[in-house]
Amino acid sequence: MNTERSHELFSRAQTLMPGGVNSPVRAFKSVGGEPFFVQRADGPCLFDVDGNRYIDYVGSWGPMIVGHNHPKVLEAVIDTARNGLSFGTPNPLEVTMAETIARLIPSCEMTRMVNSGTEATLSAIRLARGATGRSRIVKFEGCYHGHGDSFLVKAGSGALTFGVPTSPGVPKALADLTLTLAYNDFDGATKLFDECGSDIAGLIVEPVVGNANCLPPRDGYLRHLRDLCTQHGALLIFDEVMTGFRVALGGAQARYGVTADLVTFGKVIGGGMPVGAYGGRRELMQQIAPSGPIYQAGTLSGNPVAMAAGLAMLELIQVPGFHESLEAKTNALCDGLETAAREAGVPFTTQRVGGMFGMFFSAEKVDTYAQALACNTAAFNRFFHAMLDRGVYLAPSAFEAGFMSSAHDDAVIAATIEAARGAFVEAK
Ligand code: PLP
Repeated sequence: MNTERSHELFSRAQTLMPGGVNSPVRAFKSVGGEPFFVQRADGPCLFDVDGNRYIDYVGSWGPMIVGHNHPKVLEAVIDTARNGLSFGTPNPLEVTMAETIARLIPSCEMTRMVNSGTEATLSAIRLARGATGRSRIVKFEGCYHGHGDSFLVKAGSGALTFGVPTSPGVPKALADLTLTLAYNDFDGATKLFDECGSDIAGLIVEPVVGNANCLPPRDGYLRHLRDLCTQHGALLIFDEVMTGFRVALGGAQARYGVTADLVTFGKVIGGGMPVGAYGGRRELMQQIAPSGPIYQAGTLSGNPVAMAAGLAMLELIQVPGFHESLEAKTNALCDGLETAAREAGVPFTTQRVGGMFGMFFSAEKVDTYAQALACNTAAFNRFFHAMLDRGVYLAPSAFEAGFMSSAHDDAVIAATIEAARGAFVEAK
């Protein structure tokens, strides 16, 4: 595969941008090698600057649920852009967006639009702290909620010790306020709330963890977290930046029948534009400025072009049967990959939830972060490159979920499985 132009661009980029990229995972640090530079994308495929085509299971890290460059989304963007790119005043599309969210996600009686998932989660924990008058938040190891200071924290030596910053620049005093739990551990959560429940403003969780590969909740786990939060007066925050509109039209709340107090969104809701949102009950959301005292703002928030892209995407996924079909595609891919691995004699298993999936180089099913860490990442890295050589782009890290789109048809999925047959043998 010729990657001359990508190589040249990456060399230039490295002298001008930290690591040559604007977001770390794009640099291929964990899988090794160099990233390719994309010129254009269409349906299920990316085309790089050297003219190579890749079947894409990253989908810009989740937003492209109807495939790349969908004509309806593109049309909405172009039509809206003709009227101006940003007004800094209220615009009608923001109202339509808030109405659409309230209809699709009933727990979001009110919503505030922001510009990224990071902004959404930062704002949600500020609201949780402001509304409860408490300072501590709880998160889970392996969950990612963007790069806000309170989230770049790992557990100390025991679950109940103070959090430890995972990045220089995060003040220890702030990290002390973040408590960390093991996902899918019922007793750990009970114990933590028993010990310090009255200090906890909110618990934030990816209801399906998509940032530690793909870990679905054990039966009753989300309900358990809901009950603990209710019992101790803490707010339950579902970070649905990844799962929102993807694991079901109504997201994880609909799929698992558990209602959160606050929900954060990103990715699909922006249709590929930089958008995030957070929402919840009226009584909570009204505490945000200007109706309430908790401050949060944004120059470009509710941007008309971004709203148009998101609304067009949300329209497309409301077609009856959309999510059933997406899930069937995910299952066909994962079943095919498991068969190909078995034939090649490679210990391998998958997890799937709606339109997202995980690939684990492990003989056992994986549903905890500790198990995900114990998988054979060297084998994943070899598999990643063997697939890339065959024109299939997987997330360049063993700890990221894969994303299906409605544009991945049977032929594309069959071609992926065929590529995997050879790639598993090579990855052994
Ligand atoms: N929350 C989750 C669950 C995410 O997966 C991400 C990004 O991948 C974020 C928050 C942060 O979103 P953004 O990258 O748009 O800031």
